[in-house]
Amino acid sequence: MFKDVIGQNNIKQRLIDSVQSGRVAHAQLFYGSGGTGTLPMALAYAQYICCKNRTESDSCGVCPSCRAIEKLAHPDLHFVFPINDSKAICDEFMPNFRTALLENQYITFDEWQKKLPKETVAVIYTREGEEIIRKLNYKSFQSDYKIMIIWCADRMNEELANKILKILEEPMGQTVFMLVTDKPDKIISTIISRTQPLFFPPLTQDDLRNALKTKGIYFDENNIDFLLKNAKGSWVELLKNIEQKDEQKEFFELFMLIMRISWLFKVENMSELNQKISKMGRSSHISFLQFSQRILRECFIFNFKNDNLSYINNLEKDFINNFSKFINETNIEKLMNEFALAEAHIEQNGNAKIIFFDLMIKINLGLKGKL
Ligand SMILES: [Zn+2]
Repeated sequence: MFKDVIGQNNIKQRLIDSVQSGRVAHAQLFYGSGGTGTLPMALAYAQYICCKNRTESDSCGVCPSCRAIEKLAHPDLHFVFPINDSKAICDEFMPNFRTALLENQYITFDEWQKKLPKETVAVIYTREGEEIIRKLNYKSFQSDYKIMIIWCADRMNEELANKILKILEEPMGQTVFMLVTDKPDKIISTIISRTQPLFFPPLTQDDLRNALKTKGIYFDENNIDFLLKNAKGSWVELLKNIEQKDEQKEFFELFMLIMRISWLFKVENMSELNQKISKMGRSSHISFLQFSQRILRECFIFNFKNDNLSYINNLEKDFINNFSKFINETNIEKLMNEFALAEAHIEQNGNAKIIFFDLMIKINLGLKGKL
């Protein structure tokens, strides 16, 4: 339903008007950068077109047609999307696609690609052209319209694009094509010129903030403004940043701890911390060691120029403020090397407990200027 699509009120209104006035364009191009909601909007529009009981603002959500569309199982709603099995057609992947979309309508091409069984880059194969024509040859079952959503339309090759040109121009019966893409420049111009384009602008920070609230996603009020700004109007980017922020926060806490404990050099504390670290797993060890090198470098720079640490909160700022005094040109290089060495040893499958214990000794020596 339109109410589930984040922001984009102008576009919603335009689409609603097209249905209300009976002027639904038969070939439309929904384009905008990832995370602006092109696919969720196409689905909401399809639902609105087919709804038996729509209002002036949205579909009813309860009629048989709405229910079928919400389950992505409406006989008049067809999908074309990239797959990576050259012997298959989209229909064979429909169960996977349905599951993926029911989980997240803001799915990106990369996320979809990861859900496919093989690693070859997914495309829309030429043979899908016959499927499109075959499906549109049927009369519609329940709705007045047959709807064909081509997701990631930029992944059609030229042969397929040429194949569907005619049907795009003179569709059989009441057909609505919705071509959805974040790369319109990759679609041949003869296709583009036959569609009615609809550009999806970046989402506003208010839209993003409201969406976090309505979707019940937890966020830290202290740094949400920075994350909203950094998301550049993309819901997908915002969620990614929030996730990374959580990991960063954990790493920062661990960084503070390892520095303090190494400085104090009490064996029981060192063993306890080591125990904790060893449970993290190898890929986290590597990420943490890389993160630490970045923080060390920033602490060193902080001594000359104490700004531009906008991504950290007050607690972290206080720590950097104090800790930076221990980092100088005589030890920065050596400390960085020790972290890089630990990272290399972890990568070579070394014993994490030995590596981190050794690292704490080196940190102690480094901070005391004895490395
Ligand atoms: Zn309905």
